[in-house]
Amino acid sequence: MRPVVKCASAQDDYPNYRDALDDLADRIGLFCSYCEQPIRHAPEIEHVQPKSLKPELECKWKNLLIACTSCNRTKRTKSVGLAQVAMPDTDSTFRGLEFFEGGRIGLFPDLTDAQTQLMRHVVRLVRLDRHPDAKDKGDQPRDRDKRADLRRDVWDTASRCLGHYEEQREKNPWIRNLIADEIVPPRGFFSVWMTVFRDPPDMLKRFIQAFPGTDSSSFNDEGQAVPRPGGRL
Ligand SMILES: [Zn+2]
Repeated sequence: MRPVVKCASAQDDYPNYRDALDDLADRIGLFCSYCEQPIRHAPEIEHVQPKSLKPELECKWKNLLIACTSCNRTKRTKSVGLAQVAMPDTDSTFRGLEFFEGGRIGLFPDLTDAQTQLMRHVVRLVRLDRHPDAKDKGDQPRDRDKRADLRRDVWDTASRCLGHYEEQREKNPWIRNLIADEIVPPRGFFSVWMTVFRDPPDMLKRFIQAFPGTDSSSFNDEGQAVPRPGGRL
């Protein structure tokens, strides 16, 4: 889950929450804040604290993110106790998840118990763990939920790109820009690219820069995830 920094908005409070979309897109890009898919049609404003439960926060910048339809509708009106949930705009959430071939995800094993709970809660909140191969029907994606399929497809694309990169990087240095600037951003899924290219790690910093609003304080100079200053992981 890509850690993002929204920075301040031109306004703290919008007349209508939909008015915040352009500012959100400028700062963190049109990617789902939870599953990381690119949002090409009808981005949804995500109320971290649901507007039905916290109407006073409905139009507040600090309560708004961007989400895809699957994440937003899965979360629906679940009450979010922010103290119990890791969030991409406050925590180093990339550290909290592992990504695997085939579109599967898991919790990163080396977290503290408290950090594991924070990540488990956000995964459950949007059911990021649903996968077509899950044994239990309740753990399989609903109708139009393609998040795991998309993640798997981008993993496959990233693996092919890694092969081209390893073949070409000495004689064709431009392949770095081609991948980081042209191929990666339209496909989204920041964490998948960061995982597939982690060894060798020389593209990681380019990916961090390729996605607008990625929180650079959640990574060290080599592009490895580190605890976020002021965050809980
Ligand atoms: Zn999503």
